Amino acid sequence: MGSVESIVIAKRTGVCYGVREAIDKAKIARSAGKATHTLGHVVHNEGLIADLRKRGIVNVEHLDEVASGTAVVIRAHGVTPEILSRAEARGLEVIDGTCTWVTQEHRELAKLVEQGYEIVLLGTPNHPEVVGLLGFAPNAILVDEEEDWASIPRRKRMALITQSTQPPWKFERLAAFLVSRCHELKVINTVCPVTIRRQEDTIAIAREVELMIVVGGTRSANTKELTRLCEINGTRAVQIESANGISDPALFAKVKTVGITGGTSTPIEDLELVARRIAEIAGTDAVQADAAGIARAALTAAATTQYRTTSIEPEPYR
Ligand code: SF4
Repeated sequence: MGSVESIVIAKRTGVCYGVREAIDKAKIARSAGKATHTLGHVVHNEGLIADLRKRGIVNVEHLDEVASGTAVVIRAHGVTPEILSRAEARGLEVIDGTCTWVTQEHRELAKLVEQGYEIVLLGTPNHPEVVGLLGFAPNAILVDEEEDWASIPRRKRMALITQSTQPPWKFERLAAFLVSRCHELKVINTVCPVTIRRQEDTIAIAREVELMIVVGGTRSANTKELTRLCEINGTRAVQIESANGISDPALFAKVKTVGITGGTSTPIEDLELVARRIAEIAGTDAVQADAAGIARAALTAAATTQYRTTSIEPEPYR
């Protein structure tokens, strides 16, 4: 018999609206009978990628792989203006799934370039969103971790902007650092509110449970940040990619209360599967006997329609 008596899923989790809308656009195009491609995976989640593939939506890494006249979906991270022009020049039907928040970042960057600021971009090198952003400000100084910041030159007029999923604390620290680097500093706060809300809700449940399970890709920066936040709030946290990552009941030894949260590419349906798995392998007798019911109750308490993986189908994707 296990010890887990209660399992809670953080509210305002599930895939973010930007990713959800890009997925919806791909599905709508495909169901209208179009030969549909995505330029890079629209979401970093194996289950969702397999579902799109099953529907006949083909992922490509380069525009050259797409035949003229077919549809190509731009993912929520957005692309450089150059990629958009190339897609149009090749006669592709461009379905722009760029998240509205990211589009706003593109506009802000273009304005800053026009106004002649030395731009500092806080972001993860080679992340697709950052690659797209640099297309709008090719001379921007890209920095990530604090140890890079000393290399930022002193300039008269500087502007700071960020990739959407950077942690708010890091953005604030960099802004404070830049004050000493220039005469005029313009700060455009483009940390996505979805990321902030998810962190708030994760911290809220982390404070109430003995163990947090954080679900998301191993390379996902926003998932790693959730794990870190749980730990700095004093709760042990374990990061996994999916329910398959839970196999050892010893992880839950003597634990009575477990919280679950997930990164912005993790469907809320996956969090339900994780809840069920925990209930099955580590629940008390009563919890094990009703594992599916307990997982569904945890999902229902956390989920609202807008945090579902897709807006166009009420049923889970698998
Ligand atoms: S994290 Fe925010 S900005 Fe990024 S795709 Fe999702 S909703 Fe858009």
